[in-house]
Order: sequence, then structure tokens, then C-alpha cells
Amino acid sequence: MTAADADAADPDSTDAADDPIAAMEAATFEAFVGEVAQFRDTVVAPNVSRWESEKRMAPEALREASEIGLLAMEVPTALGGLGMSFAQKCRITEVLSAVSMPFAFSLVNTGNVAARVAQRGTERHRELYLADLMAGRRFGSTALTEPGAGSDFANIATTATPVDGRWRLDGAKAWITNAAHSDVIFCYAQTEPGSRGRGIALFLIDGTRPGFERLPPYELAGGHLIGTGGFRLDGYVAEADDLLSPAGEAFIAALSSVNGARTYVAAMCCAMVEATLASAVRYGAEREAFGKPVIAHQGLAWKLAGVQNRLEAARLLTGRAIEAVTESLRTGDATGAILPAAHAKKFATETAEADIATCIQAMGAEGLRSDHPGGHHLVGARIANYVDGSTEIQTDRIARSLRQLYA
Ligand SMILES: Cc1cc2nc3c(=O)[nH]c(=O)nc-3n(C[C@H](O)[C@H](O)[C@H](O)COP(=O)(O)OP(=O)(O)OC[C@H]3O[C@@H](n4cnc5c(N)ncnc54)[C@H](O)[C@@H]3O)c2cc1C
Repeated sequence: MTAADADAADPDSTDAADDPIAAMEAATFEAFVGEVAQFRDTVVAPNVSRWESEKRMAPEALREASEIGLLAMEVPTALGGLGMSFAQKCRITEVLSAVSMPFAFSLVNTGNVAARVAQRGTERHRELYLADLMAGRRFGSTALTEPGAGSDFANIATTATPVDGRWRLDGAKAWITNAAHSDVIFCYAQTEPGSRGRGIALFLIDGTRPGFERLPPYELAGGHLIGTGGFRLDGYVAEADDLLSPAGEAFIAALSSVNGARTYVAAMCCAMVEATLASAVRYGAEREAFGKPVIAHQGLAWKLAGVQNRLEAARLLTGRAIEAVTESLRTGDATGAILPAAHAKKFATETAEADIATCIQAMGAEGLRSDHPGGHHLVGARIANYVDGSTEIQTDRIARSLRQLYA
């Protein structure tokens, strides 16, 4: 089941600020997919190599994306957004990731913040941030990871201390998508040091306020469009209503929402593999070796058939995860989405990395040129193996289910 199928299976296309499974009407959505593909092909595709060589995020392209609503996909229409379902967002991330997963990931991350400000923020937050986020005048991030804590999220050291009805935040965040430009940040902090997940709370941080210091973005092996970097909080004062999710709730809510992120990362991987495979097949049909097209050599064709086979499997697992996440949004219970999301992300990310390399290999040296998609997608697949829980953490989730399943 694809993202589109999952969406088509939901006949109730409604939209309201408090409706967790609102969706854009099916025909309107299909037309919108075409607009997104056009945006991708005219704005993103011609510039990816240049942005990569300049080692930077592309805020100007995100602003252009906002003109067709791409920064407000899940914001309810009543608040100026597109009112899309989760399944529809997954489909859009696929369309964009066929050209650049790091760009798509950056876009989705700032869009997620807009959606959460709409759904979870106060009236003051909506007035201050929502229009700017939807228009790409400000960018958003979600910050869990720190220099000393990644996979072990419960071990974060950023503290939040109550002071005269407000909160003082101190600490540092690292490896945050969009941190190069973002200043509307969903930031997790510890209110009760030593209590692990129990004391973690979620705050909305404004990067234009005193006590916030942006750190220089990272130089990576590739994928700079994702804009990763960090920031320091030194005596940052959050208002009482900036506490969006209190201790006791925030940690569990974070683990619940990550199922959705793992699922769209799996969808992104499917798109990257498909784009690289298509490129390899087209090239292999033209390029000749030993008197015939290289793809007519069985040794090569079978390798690419294996890629297609695993792509089909990744799509099925991703479709199942989309259904499970959609159901969890409807019921408010994320338990049933944990394993489908872990299976989809583990399989899609691991196979993407290996299979994109196989497709590049099938193109010979030509596959390394930056005017083919493989190199950029290989970096994208590498990134996908870390974000929203590493591959090992997905494996660990699955391992923890084994005894319940079989013992
Ligand atoms: C491009 C990029 C963008 C990112 N964007 C964000 C963002 O927007 N917000 C955010 O909060 N974070 C973000 N991250 C951080 C990401 O979530 C972390 O990299 C990830 O959680 C892993 O943490 P770590 O890198 O600190 O690795 P560590 O936790 O230090 O782990 C090191 C290695 O040990 C493995 N490992 C850890 N624990 C176990 C275990 N129990 N069993 C087996 N193996 C284990 C890991 O899988 C990894 O291979 C981003 C990362 C990247 C690369």
C-alpha cells in the first residue's frame, strides 16, 4: 500500500484544528502532487549540486516552497494551511526526496513545527510564529539530541528550572536539522536531573530572545541542505505558556510522535532508491560492453532486479507503517505503530544504502558524476540511518518484541 492508497482508504476527508486525521480532498491532492513535482524539477533539481558544493541549506528554496503551501502541509485549513493527512505528507516527502532527501527533510522538519504550533501552541504562539513559519520567514527545528546524548534521549542534560512562574533553560543541543537558520524550536529539557524520561518536558524556544546562541552549522561529508547544527541556552527564560508538554508527558509524547518520523524517513528512502534505480536502468540500456547493452548482461540485470525486489518490500512495509501511524493518530494510542515504524525504517534505510551503491556501481564510473542522482542519494541514505533513531535503535525495538511474540 502506498501513501496515496493509505489516503484513498480514508473516505472522510475533513479538516478541523482538532481533527488528527483530517485530509486534503483526493482529487485536489493529486493535482497538488503534480505542482510539487514541478516545483521539485524547476527549483530543487537544477540547484542541488550547487547547494551541495556551497555546503549550505537553501532557505530561499524553502521560501519558494511556501508559495504552494509546502511549509504548511499539516496545518489545518482554518489556520491557513493545506490540512493534509499524515499519509499525504508521506507522499509529498517521497516526491521531493526523489531529487533531494536532505532538502525534503529540512522542509518537513520546519513544516512539522508549523503544524505543532497550530495544534499545540497557545493563541500567543500562533500569533507570533505561525504565519512566519508557513511563509518561510522563520524556520523551525525539533531538538532532542545533545553533545552528550543521542540514542539515549532520557539522558539529556539541558536543564529547565522554575523561576518566578517562568522557566530558566541551560544547556546545549547538537545535530539539529535546520539549526543553521531556525529560531522557532521545540526543545526538550530536564526538569528533575537524575529522573531520566520522567522529568523531561517540552518547551517552545524563540531563537531571537536573549540566552539563545546559535552555533556554526556542521561541515559534513554531504547533505548540507539539511542545515544541521547546534545551539546553546545560557539563562534562556521561557514564559510559563512556552511549556508545551510537562514532565511526565513529554517523553512519552516524543516517543509516540517519532513513529511518524520513522515512517516518512522510510518513504524517503523508497524514493531515493527508485530514482537511482531508474537512472541506472536508463544508463544500462544505452551503454554497451562486450557487444550488448550492459543491462543485457545477466550478472548486472539480476543485481538490479534484486534492488527492485527489495524496493517493493520496503514500500509494503512503509505502507503498513503509514496505516499504523494513521490509526494511532485516530485513536491517540501509539503502541500499535511502534513496531511497523521500526520495521519500515530499519529495512528501508539499510536496503537504501546498499541498493543505491549497487545502482551507482551498475553505471560504472559515470554513476559518480553529480549530474546523476546516486551520490546525493547515497548521502541521503546514510543520513536516514541516523535521524529519528538510528538503525541499531530500530533493531533493538524489534529485538525487544521477540520474546513477547515467541517465548
Ligand atoms: C543529518 C542529521 C540530522 C539530525 N537531525 C536531528 C534533529 O532535527 N533533532 C534531533 O534531536 N536530533 C537530530 N539528529 C540526531 C540523531 O537523532 C542522532 O544522531 C541519533 O539519535 C543517534 O544518536 P548519536 O548520533 O548521538 O549516536 P549515539 O547515541 O552516540 O550512538 C553511537 C552508535 O551506537 C549505537 N547505539 C546506541 N545505543 C545502542 C544500543 N542500545 N544498542 C546498539 N547500538 C546502540 C548507535 O546506533 C550508533 O551507531 C540528526 C542527526 C543527523 C546525522
